[in-house]
Amino acid sequence: MQGVGRARQMVRHCQAPGVAKEWRAMSDDSLVVNEIFFSVQGESSWSGLPCVFVRLTGCPLRCSYCDTAYAFREGRRMSRAAILEEVARRARPFREADLRVPGRDGESVRLPLVEVTGGEPLAQAGVLPLLRALCDAGHTVLLETSGALDIRPVDPRVHRIMDLKCPSSGEADRNRWENLEVLRPTDELKFVIGTVEDYEWARDQILGRQLHRLCPILISWVHPLTPAQQDPALKPVPAGQRRLSPRELAERLLADALPVRFQTQLHKWIWPPDQRGV
Ligand code: SF4
Repeated sequence: MQGVGRARQMVRHCQAPGVAKEWRAMSDDSLVVNEIFFSVQGESSWSGLPCVFVRLTGCPLRCSYCDTAYAFREGRRMSRAAILEEVARRARPFREADLRVPGRDGESVRLPLVEVTGGEPLAQAGVLPLLRALCDAGHTVLLETSGALDIRPVDPRVHRIMDLKCPSSGEADRNRWENLEVLRPTDELKFVIGTVEDYEWARDQILGRQLHRLCPILISWVHPLTPAQQDPALKPVPAGQRRLSPRELAERLLADALPVRFQTQLHKWIWPPDQRGV
């Protein structure tokens, strides 16, 4: 879904610092949406399940490995009602048959999942009532967030998948450490790791803070960006960092006996890594 005139103008602001405040001031019954699509969930402990994705426009960060830089700027404003209708349309074949699978703790999980992602979805005020409405509609709802904004106002029925930004992202100083205090066992904490320095930092945070006692920990290998994904606005990887292969990363996790779940982005192995809408 590409932007149209007025919406493009509106979302162009998202590159400027302070955009989150600007959007918070806007009405919360509509949001700027980059794309809504149906695919296989490619990450987290929910990986492999069918999922409707709602990708919101805008992010105040510029991580070096960001593979959705197009969502910084492109989007169109949609009412909350229109978003819910579109999600319901995509979910209909599963919902009509009331298809479910057992969840992590044996609970019944209704399919498809619905994930709100970005960009940084919490940068738009309208995301909070949207998440509430998706839960009220009976969906199993996931939220992907950078960890840079306050996660407390999110509906407690939502499974929050929160990043802790590692050094190679160039955005490690944006981590909102207070968020760790409000994580629940139904949430997940993700480290995106591209370098040896990232790995060592993540390992020290996990063991030093005993993060695995809070919720499941995801260790996600950074899939290299294709030329088309390399946006000039992204932060550079700090000089001197050493790139890690997925094999090296997995072997380090095993050697250090870390209580974590290793993942690569499943959708990037199924489809071309820069394909949108999957
Ligand atoms: S927080 Fe996510 S969307 Fe924002 S720049 Fe980082 S990777 Fe990209």
